[in-house]
Amino acid sequence: MKTTVERLQGSRQELFIDGQFVAPKRGEYVPSYDPTTGAPWYEFALAGAEDVDAAVRSAQAALKSNAWRRMTQTERGKLVRRLGELVLEHADELAQIECRDNGKLLKEMRAQMRAIPDSYLYFAGMADKLQGDTIPVNKLDMLNFNQREPIGVVAMIIPWNSPLMMLTGTLAPCLAIGNTVVVKPSEHASASTLALAELAIEAGIPPGVFNVVTGDGAVTGDALTCHPGVAKYVFTGSTGTGRKIASNAAQNLVPCQMELGGKSPHVVFSDVDIERAVNGVVSGIFAAAGQTCVAGSRCFVEAPIYERFVEALVERTRRVKVGHPMADDTDIGPLALAAQLAKVQHYVGSGVEQGARLAAGGRRPADPALAAGWYFEPTVLTQANNDMQFMRDEIFGPVVGVMPFTTEEELITLANDTEYGLASGIWTRDIDRAMRFARDIEAGTVWINTYRSAAYMSSNGGMKHSGYGRRGGFEVMREFSRLKNVVLDYSGAMQDPFVIRLR
Ligand code: NAD
Repeated sequence: MKTTVERLQGSRQELFIDGQFVAPKRGEYVPSYDPTTGAPWYEFALAGAEDVDAAVRSAQAALKSNAWRRMTQTERGKLVRRLGELVLEHADELAQIECRDNGKLLKEMRAQMRAIPDSYLYFAGMADKLQGDTIPVNKLDMLNFNQREPIGVVAMIIPWNSPLMMLTGTLAPCLAIGNTVVVKPSEHASASTLALAELAIEAGIPPGVFNVVTGDGAVTGDALTCHPGVAKYVFTGSTGTGRKIASNAAQNLVPCQMELGGKSPHVVFSDVDIERAVNGVVSGIFAAAGQTCVAGSRCFVEAPIYERFVEALVERTRRVKVGHPMADDTDIGPLALAAQLAKVQHYVGSGVEQGARLAAGGRRPADPALAAGWYFEPTVLTQANNDMQFMRDEIFGPVVGVMPFTTEEELITLANDTEYGLASGIWTRDIDRAMRFARDIEAGTVWINTYRSAAYMSSNGGMKHSGYGRRGGFEVMREFSRLKNVVLDYSGAMQDPFVIRLR
């Protein structure tokens, strides 16, 4: 892999279509910004409709090519495994590229870069285990079976918060099944996906099987989601964009997988070890500066410990170190975009205006070394309630609203009072209570005495406006393959079509 942070600096990055890096037809490029300085650091191509068309056509051609179609599932699995091995070999460069592009902590990226290669291996192993089934029909001498086959060209539109992680969860199974792929990374963090394209060539993935079109949502994303050659969309991003994409896809009757936003409840009962629960809540909301879809942004605390818990939460929050993403002692890096910083500031202001109490944070750090970057202090707003706008909308930043509750019934009503249903967490020693919560909460994931503990072996997805479709585990192999029913008559005789036989 030639791409490194040093080579990216000041460079111009092309599109990746049909196994080659190519210039966009209209010759337009846009800058990607470094969140620690707010300055542009490389340019990427803005793919227009013609480029998107070329990428989809190349993926369609690859689907029919002998190089891909006639490959055995075992061979495909080996290619996916090889890609995972190359990702591991280049884990450090990939981690650095992503940190520079979206401001993620290097230590967090290094941890992700241990899971990502393993995830390729996991799905590579499934390539030759996706079986169909035989149906015992009510007829003699008939074999009726379902076989699984690739869907076709899968278009993946991903966000900026964890591009490689988000991409791997669907790219690896899609390739293992035999689909071909067109990826549109976020205009705010495209570099790691382009670096992965280089590794795809090195791994021997045939041209056209994996394509990357960079650009924004309005031009590139829109062209991709209107293209009639796509067989399925995988979208990870905000609920508003998800609606637009689903509506475009519906014109071509193309199914979507939607991984959307969240406003996840994080619940603390009074029987817990407060320090442990505080650490859980702090990591649930402040990890990655709150820029995670599962961020536990609404914290519900049982009334008897509310005051004590808030005090401990505020004290712990004040010790969270905001700093440069590459520094080992940093707990929170910058927000990835200037617009994200403005959004966080807006919601904190509106929370205070609507009566919440600013208990910690609420401003940009005073350290002059951080002045140019898009940093914001981890923020705790207490005396919050579900009528406040910051408790209803996804902020996608380091802001938690805290409110008390008294009964389990009240808690479930409050926690479910949201348009979202992505994740949830509960801290309690009472297993019966935890299980009642798991039963009643409207969320795709329930964490009990932990938070943000994700595994590619388990399948996750959202409820309500957090989306539909599953990611991870074996379930995803079914999501990205389709069933074909095959019926074979081995009686040796074509029966008189007008005689109705009961068996
Ligand atoms: P976003 O919706 O602004 O953009 C996501 C992607 O969609 C980008 O690649 C963007 O260019 C593209 N896009 C934007 N408008 C488009 C259009 N009209 N047509 C086609 N494509 C378009 O989201 P974001 O700000 O990049 O990411 C943050 C959001 O992602 C948050 O809401 C977060 O919760 C969500 N997210 C969800 C998950 C999950 O698994 N549920 C994971 C990570 C992030």
